[in-house]
Amino acid sequence: MEKRELLYTGKAKSVFATPDSDYLIIEFRDDTSAFNGQKLEQLARKGKVNNIFNTYIMQRLEQAGIATHQVKQLSDTESLVRRLQMIPVECVVRNYAAGSLVKRLGVEEGLPLHPPTFELFLKSDALGDPMINEAHALAFGWATHEQLVRMQALSMQVNDVLANMFDAAGMMLVDFKLEFGLFHGEILLGDEFSPDGCRLWDKATRKKLDKDRFRQGLGGVVEAYEEVGHRLGIKFD
Ligand code: ADP
Ligand code: UDP
Repeated sequence: MEKRELLYTGKAKSVFATPDSDYLIIEFRDDTSAFNGQKLEQLARKGKVNNIFNTYIMQRLEQAGIATHQVKQLSDTESLVRRLQMIPVECVVRNYAAGSLVKRLGVEEGLPLHPPTFELFLKSDALGDPMINEAHALAFGWATHEQLVRMQALSMQVNDVLANMFDAAGMMLVDFKLEFGLFHGEILLGDEFSPDGCRLWDKATRKKLDKDRFRQGLGGVVEAYEEVGHRLGIKFD
């Protein structure tokens, strides 16, 4: 499918129109950001690694019966996706305490969470993605009750599939963020699933294998993403 005009430049991806208004091309760039865009760097190969990684995960989710926006990978850094009307609410599932939960509640990093928690954040760079609840989403018209119920159920299904998949490959899926959108009335999983938007630790050593390596200046960021992929059997070349 032909790449037409640039519609949106995000912090890590660029979104292009195609001749068919139902489809978009997403380009994964090497740009990497943290702390609401305050820390910015280019990490060689990250765009390619995340595009290939995301394609693999979306396929695994489709195989498990979870509908996603992914149509197909077009090149090293580009994928064809269904054009969604994005719901501006980020869904975060946590299996272990880390990140903002540790700061907010003063609990120890790594504390197992039974059952896994489900949180909503408003997608707003200007406001620093504040945490919200269902009443806010309803009162401000960001999502309907039915959409929120569906997004939570889908997020938990994604967690079941991926937590088991990473566990079998020797990793803990600590937490992750998902974005959903509407395609002809149906809620589909959109955006991406990659180590940029989740936390993954080695089960034996608890070594961080995700974007916390970038946030915390630990180095070896893309190498860690590739290690995760290799453990899942993904080839990046
Ligand atoms: P950000 O906007 O947070 O800086 P990105 O750099 O990842 O993020 O940009 C990708 C943008 O594309 C995001 O705003 C995301 O919500 C949006 N998006 C992801 N998938 C789709 C889709 N299938 N249809 C429309 N928009 C999408
Ligand atoms: N996350 C994300 N984008 C965001 C906010 C969070 O991908 O804008 C991911 C993050 O990588 C982690 C999970 O969501 O895997 C939970 O993030 P948290 O609330 O702990 O925030 P953080 O401290 O990472 O900013």
